[in-house]
Amino acid sequence: MIKQLRIITTVMLVIFFYSCSDDENNLGEMPEEVVVLPEEPIVSPDEIIKIPVVIHVINPPSRPFIISDEKIQSQIDVLNKDYRKKNKDHVKTPDEFMNLVADVGIEFYLATKDPDGKPTTGIIRTEADISGFSGNDLTGELPIEEYKLFFENKGGQDIWPSDSYLNIYIADMFDRWGGLGLAGYAYFPGADPRIDAVVIDPRVFGTLPPLEAGYELGRTATHEIGHWLNLKHIYGKDGSCEVGDEVADTPDQKSQNLGKPTHPKSSCDTNEMFMNFMDRVDDDTMFMFTNGQKERIRALFNEGGARRALYLKNK
Ligand SMILES: [Zn+2]
Repeated sequence: MIKQLRIITTVMLVIFFYSCSDDENNLGEMPEEVVVLPEEPIVSPDEIIKIPVVIHVINPPSRPFIISDEKIQSQIDVLNKDYRKKNKDHVKTPDEFMNLVADVGIEFYLATKDPDGKPTTGIIRTEADISGFSGNDLTGELPIEEYKLFFENKGGQDIWPSDSYLNIYIADMFDRWGGLGLAGYAYFPGADPRIDAVVIDPRVFGTLPPLEAGYELGRTATHEIGHWLNLKHIYGKDGSCEVGDEVADTPDQKSQNLGKPTHPKSSCDTNEMFMNFMDRVDDDTMFMFTNGQKERIRALFNEGGARRALYLKNK
């Protein structure tokens, strides 16, 4: 069976410039007026962060797929387990990693208000013969205006402000399914706001059929949203032990795992954590995030973090 790549991502670097100045003129003097800046809320480690989700369904009439509201809700339910350590299968984590399993403390719900404040189901459906890749070959070199999925005037749907919502596009990926094959992709924080979204094929979304074998538990979305929340893969690129996922408690791992490996499996002089959501094993073989990944995600919501506004607007 041909395995699908779960992700192609574009990294946008956000560079922050800091400046400071010394005021030496007032040495020895009390300022006439002291301006106290309001204290910005800090995300406490135990705080549950709630993120509204809008689902954009772009269904091609020439090759329609089935995606009921119930199937969409089943995916939201999976996310609320996986990101809260409420997924029962996390107990399958090997003993040596068990103390690393994290409750990331994020919950998701279908948006109840649209950007204008009007009531919504959080699910918008459009019929258009475009795929998840129409006008977008994921190289980042084509003009964003041509990414049909993200623009209503090209047949897709305009994104809702990503500083207020998680946008998930359900789109046909079948044109890559049998070739290079992609089940989903996501943009890292800092992406152009017009495309700051997650895209998933309906055949790997939720837990209700029809679903592809190996993708029956909704973990493609768990993985892709991990990228949207700044997580990188836990394995090295090009078979290198220099992983660079910027997370200390995920062991170095030489390359991706597919299918259903069994523990212990080792590379880079250590046992692999292939059961991590940021590897690429089958849905029933991945079941945990680590404390380090949690920290990296939650840093996004603190002052200076790339998704700080999302946190403040939904607090
Ligand atoms: Zn990925």
